Amino acid sequence: MIYLDSAATTPVFEEIINNQSKWIKEYFANPNSLHPDGQKSRIALEEARRYFAGLIDCLDEEEVIFTSCATESNNTIIKGLAESNPEKKHIVISPIEHKSVLMPVKYLAKKGYKVDFLKIDSQGKIDLDHLKKIINPKTLFVGTIHVNNETGVIQDIAEIGKICREKEVPFFSDIVQSFGKIDIPFKYLDFFSVSGHKINAPKGIGLLKINKNIDITPLLHGGGQENGFRSGTENVVEAIALKEATQNWIENKKNLWEKFKKLEKLLINGLRENIPEIKVVSENNKVPYITTVLFPEVTGQEMVVALGRKGIDVSSGSACSTGSPMPSHVLLAYGFSEKDALSGVRFSFGFYTEEEEIIKAISAVVETYKKLKLFSSFS
Ligand code: PLP
Repeated sequence: MIYLDSAATTPVFEEIINNQSKWIKEYFANPNSLHPDGQKSRIALEEARRYFAGLIDCLDEEEVIFTSCATESNNTIIKGLAESNPEKKHIVISPIEHKSVLMPVKYLAKKGYKVDFLKIDSQGKIDLDHLKKIINPKTLFVGTIHVNNETGVIQDIAEIGKICREKEVPFFSDIVQSFGKIDIPFKYLDFFSVSGHKINAPKGIGLLKINKNIDITPLLHGGGQENGFRSGTENVVEAIALKEATQNWIENKKNLWEKFKKLEKLLINGLRENIPEIKVVSENNKVPYITTVLFPEVTGQEMVVALGRKGIDVSSGSACSTGSPMPSHVLLAYGFSEKDALSGVRFSFGFYTEEEEIIKAISAVVETYKKLKLFSSFS
């Protein structure tokens, strides 16, 4: 198989797989126990936390919270801020957020919150003047994704953060698709979320950064772990795995970026030469490792299924909504028609993606598209 779906998830690094059973044995004890085995786990957990605090320039390690996934982190931020600040009933987010942000916001909208969606241009960039205008004294928070999981477009979260700071409104960013891969202006983010399985750590570990000066109620109540912000016995082994995976990405960041740029160029040029009618969504101001291409007259889902039969893993829309016939909300927000928004295929590269795989994938995509188009009833 040729795996071009790294924005959905990634294979676990070999080193982590090899060490995992050793860590499971070594750090089996509850880090909240006072006996020596418990303290051994505690030391390993705190070492991982210290690493992340240093990486993100956070002076207070207690602001680094381990969670189970980015969905949990996003829900904690959104519902936690709402619970603690009931007088603020206005939320500002972009229309191209991941569902793990959109859905908790929708949940609050049903409870009477007013939600304003930021305007974006045809390249997916947030309109900063619109942001300045719509923040008001009732605004609970502003939330914008950093790198979009479908198009790869990068938002200027430093500028957005500065605007929010001037207006004294908490700013939160979902940095799941940028963490470890590009520079992140951490100092402008009050809250952010990270997911381990997007950077070759196992599933079941995420990170949440909070700003302790802003009131936030935890989602999970219980034993008061993670300084009271996330109860539940800590997953020491996966916290170590997340640290190892992050280190590996950071150490190779520059080379990987160069590789991704080459692969992106190869893919887009190869597809364009053979299928001039394709549309590439957001060609500028994006990361090279996520690209959505629209294939006129066929659906993205048909392409995904047919390419799967040829040994190529890609996705249409976001992976979380695969199987649903709904057009991508991200592409609709860009201003694409429903038909165009149904015709997108996402190619996303990872740590292990190779040039030869892209070359093979291009031939398979071209052949598949031409065949599907002949028999397509999609109009
Ligand atoms: N945010 C973004 C941008 C994502 O791409 C994803 C996963 O698809 C998530 C959040 C959810 O991450 P998790 O699977 O860790 O809950």
